[in-house]
Amino acid sequence: MRYTFGPVNSRRFGISLGIDLSPDTKSCNFDCVYCELKGSKPISFIPNPPKVEDIISQVKEALKKFEDIDVITITSNGEPTLYDKLDSLVDELNKIKKDKKLLILSNGSTICDQKIQNTLAKIDIVKLSLDCVTQKCFKKIDRALKGIEIEKLYNCMIDFSKNFSHQLVIEILLVKGINDNIDEIKKINEILQFIKPDRVDIGTIDRPPAYKVQPVNEEKINELAKYFSNLPISVIYKNKPSKKEDFNKDEMIQLLSHRPQSQFDIENFFSNSSKKILKELLETRSVIKKDIAGVSFYIKA
Ligand code: SF4
Repeated sequence: MRYTFGPVNSRRFGISLGIDLSPDTKSCNFDCVYCELKGSKPISFIPNPPKVEDIISQVKEALKKFEDIDVITITSNGEPTLYDKLDSLVDELNKIKKDKKLLILSNGSTICDQKIQNTLAKIDIVKLSLDCVTQKCFKKIDRALKGIEIEKLYNCMIDFSKNFSHQLVIEILLVKGINDNIDEIKKINEILQFIKPDRVDIGTIDRPPAYKVQPVNEEKINELAKYFSNLPISVIYKNKPSKKEDFNKDEMIQLLSHRPQSQFDIENFFSNSSKKILKELLETRSVIKKDIAGVSFYIKA
């Protein structure tokens, strides 16, 4: 089908049926150095946009065929909020989604537009990107259309999050030598304290990028992740770290009170004995498990 793809098992959001709003060509107002699509000049619209009714009929067909879908993901070969009929599409998807969640993967560039904010308010999970908060870094990494300024965008994200009642996920993609420095990370953390997202996903390049840039290694990602405070951080691991940690009860409580651990942290870092202790703490309700936009977090009660 032309406008739907999958389902794919996305570790971040569960089993996802994708909707591609720009199947023919990349249509994005960013030209990120790490983009897995080919580099291209940023544009502010989707050429030849699909009709809402055509998308809906394909989604209905896919939902009949694939029953165990967790999320219907609005995405595109580019930025999905550039789709001019996004609001009607969201209304129609909400009518047919039943128990599935609606998710949008946006680069956050249109968040200052009140109409876009109104549309996003009707979506169960909104993922916005925030790779940098200084204009110099933003220009280097996201290479946005002229006139887009990161300070305006993060202020609009703060406003949006105040009234948004569903789940907000912020994604930070780390690129070696651009945004992997402690100064930028500390500044991003300061802004995130105002946005107060439900979850922060931190990852790095794991597919061939549009430009000559390099990923950040696991060790560095984990070191930088420590600079985020009071937020459920989900580190997206490309390769599983080989060393597993043995925590006793006190150490685990200490760890979880500093930083909730995601299901990926448990999978990748916890030894079998640590997992056993975690299970005991769950049974005694010293630790609780919470689902945040499709990822389980373990939090000190
Ligand atoms: S926002 Fe997404 S699609 Fe657009 S250039 Fe960046 S990575 Fe590629």
